[in-house]
Amino acid sequence: MRLSRYFLPVLKETPSEAQIASHRLMLRAGMIKQASAGIYSWLPMGFKVLKKIEAIVHEEQIRAGHIPMLMPTLQSADLWRESGRYDDYGEEMLRITDRHGRDMLYGPTNEELITDIFRSHVGSYKDLPLTLYHIQWKFRDEIRPRFGVMRGREFYMKDGYNFDTDYNSAIHAYNRHMVSYLRTYERMGLKAIPMRADSGPIGGDDTHEFLVLADTGESEVFYDSAILDLTFGDRQVNFDDRAECTAIVKEWTTPYARTDETHDEALFAQIPEDRRKTSRGIEVGQIFYFGTKYSEPMGAVVTNDKGERVPVHMGSHGIGVSRLVGAIIEASHDENGIIWPEGVTPFHCGIVNLKQGDTAADAACAGLYKALVEKGLEPLYDDREERAGAKFATMDLIGLPWRITVGPRGLKNGVVELTCRRTGESEEMTPEAAVAKVAEIYASHHTAGHWEPMAKSSFHTWL
Ligand code: ATP
Ligand code: MG
Repeated sequence: MRLSRYFLPVLKETPSEAQIASHRLMLRAGMIKQASAGIYSWLPMGFKVLKKIEAIVHEEQIRAGHIPMLMPTLQSADLWRESGRYDDYGEEMLRITDRHGRDMLYGPTNEELITDIFRSHVGSYKDLPLTLYHIQWKFRDEIRPRFGVMRGREFYMKDGYNFDTDYNSAIHAYNRHMVSYLRTYERMGLKAIPMRADSGPIGGDDTHEFLVLADTGESEVFYDSAILDLTFGDRQVNFDDRAECTAIVKEWTTPYARTDETHDEALFAQIPEDRRKTSRGIEVGQIFYFGTKYSEPMGAVVTNDKGERVPVHMGSHGIGVSRLVGAIIEASHDENGIIWPEGVTPFHCGIVNLKQGDTAADAACAGLYKALVEKGLEPLYDDREERAGAKFATMDLIGLPWRITVGPRGLKNGVVELTCRRTGESEEMTPEAAVAKVAEIYASHHTAGHWEPMAKSSFHTWL
């Protein structure tokens, strides 16, 4: 993409309404615009990051054997009356009446709708296990929407639902979700720690939240710092193998990690003092096992292998896709702007032309652009007639991990400059070497399982 042809409405001033870095930077970098309280338009660059995150979520869900679908945003109140949640949910639920006087609502979550789909089409244990998921907009009329996309009223969520004949199979589904989530967040460059949590209005026995440590997080968390040493890496997991998934869950849930709702001082005190940590955290996902809470009242039953009619065991599993955009920025920025992890960056490499209109510089930039595209990468070429300082400031603000700077002086010696956004380190090299190095960095992410070009993603093949 050439910047002169893109829509990147960067703000010079720091917006006064934004209290935290991610909100400020998303507004300044022209990623979002508030439409009304807690409701945002996603401008092109924000939209691109949102879609990259979404693609990773899809790929990892499909890898785990879960099946994508799509349910509507508006739901009938009748289903929620069946489960008993229509009255329980309270003011966070946006209730709507259609022209025929029918009660509708903008879905805050989808347990009722999916249970209705299940009971209409599945009646035998032979069709189980089954996990269906979708990525769809949700609405919760939050009393205090704030921090931009982090606590919106309209937000984008992946929610998945497992259906199993018995407890053990449902716990395997729970574990499978935890394993797939660990890999999902790591591909986004995040350390998201699974923490034992409280189930709230979804209800249930077993639940973990995934938290990204950040001073601006809304949750208070307590953990053993040993958990920070764990990495998922490129493990080839057989998601059907119960023992393998259980072992990974055990590895990640053995070090103490809890939110304030389930925190236990006595257990915490048993951790060596230098490893005992308290911090703030951003909740980027949550998994639940809740047994027959919805299947019983709503009559989602199957015939088991003994011929008995039993309610299915269920769980639900969410990832805050739009909140993740903010959470990644909270975890990865500096005073100059965003620093995108390679896995979610909107463009792979910036190209800055220090002297637009100079024949040699223009030709070198065009050559770099073509070479990067040929490597399957997407460059953002700043081809505007702007001062070098302004171009650098924009690149730093929007946070592309790599930048190639091209100027007439360097070109006389046959070199351009490759700069790493995270470290600020620059290296002079030939244009060919710069392209090779950037391509090699992204390829190594790919082979490590951390990055896959969207065009080749399993989601697109699956569709
Ligand atoms: P919170 O405690 O932050 O209000 P929640 O526990 O009610 O969230 P879940 O029902 O677990 O939310 O939803 C799954 C995920 O959706 C959360 O882990 C979070 O990442 C995201 N999410 C929830 N509410 C919002 C919101 N208002 N804005 C943006 N993302 C949200
Ligand atoms: Mg939650």
